[in-house]
Amino acid sequence: MAVIKKAVATAMALFMAFYGFIGMTGNVSDDYTEGKYKNVILMIGDGMGFNTLEATKAQRGVSLAMETMPVKAQSQTWSYLIPATDSAAGGTALSTGCRVWINSLGVFPFDPFTINDFNVPINICELAKRDGKAAGVVTTDKTSGATPSSFSAHALSRTMEKDISKDQLASGLDLIWGASSESINEENTKANGFTYIGNEDELMALTAGSRSFAQFSFDDLKNCRNNHNTPTIEEMTEKAIEILDADEDGFFLMVEGACIDKFSHDNEFEGATMSTVEFDKAVKAALDFAAEDGETLVVVTADHETGGIKLDKKTGNYKYTSGSHTNVDVPVFVSATDAGFKSGDKVKNREIPVQLARVMGYGEKEFPAAR
Ligand SMILES: [Zn+2]
Repeated sequence: MAVIKKAVATAMALFMAFYGFIGMTGNVSDDYTEGKYKNVILMIGDGMGFNTLEATKAQRGVSLAMETMPVKAQSQTWSYLIPATDSAAGGTALSTGCRVWINSLGVFPFDPFTINDFNVPINICELAKRDGKAAGVVTTDKTSGATPSSFSAHALSRTMEKDISKDQLASGLDLIWGASSESINEENTKANGFTYIGNEDELMALTAGSRSFAQFSFDDLKNCRNNHNTPTIEEMTEKAIEILDADEDGFFLMVEGACIDKFSHDNEFEGATMSTVEFDKAVKAALDFAAEDGETLVVVTADHETGGIKLDKKTGNYKYTSGSHTNVDVPVFVSATDAGFKSGDKVKNREIPVQLARVMGYGEKEFPAAR
């Protein structure tokens, strides 16, 4: 066993050296001297491409708060070696600064015995918690969905719901809110120091500084049904900020609008554009807080585009050209011009959290890194 462990360690060292060249080096460096922010809010529109926004504006006659943000860049969403990603690898690039295999969550892409028995990349929530900041994830998907799990768990596959939930319960995060997941219940959340939240009224009664695990109806969240049982993504975002902002050391919050992707898989414009508008309301809430607070950075992006939405020149309408994910670049909107992003920049997905860590004061050796 010792021999195997040593072999694994050697392989990992070699791999890390190699990976340093192909996976982790980015444009951001340690001599970063621009703005520093106490709080960071990363908002992910799952499956939200540039044309998702165009279709939403055209079909609903609305303007979008995210498009008023001063920096407009774009992100290349590739997974490790493969151009079109899924939400697990896409989320992991955004949470750890590492590109990984499709379907894997927060683990290095090299695991010869597939035992998940050695170092994993630290995610930005763990980094924040390690240093006494508050951190949380909010989603309209199941809490064990691929995007929230990228920020709160490590698993070889996104399908390992039991392992993901176990990681989330042990994560020490201040809040994990979304739709119900099979292995999460009142008993195990309480045993791990969380207040269990099962409806909107309980959510709104939470006080600043509390730790909570919320399980809502997926059907309500997906269809944007707001009632005493289920909050909107905008309400969840406002409440999450209120709770996390009680920490004097600052906070990191990830908010995911999950159903833009889900409706786009079915090529349902009605639902996809409704979800985009709802997500944008949450962005507006975050931007309002940041404007008032003055120490908070908001970044809006996507893990990938879904549906290959294109303008049909004959009809003048937007149309779906695919039922799955595409590899087109996605938007990156940033709430400040001194946070290392510039309009017109083309960044790689994995560079986004690295830059977020820099504005939070972390250097090159701290992130990206093995946990
Ligand atoms: Zn998808």
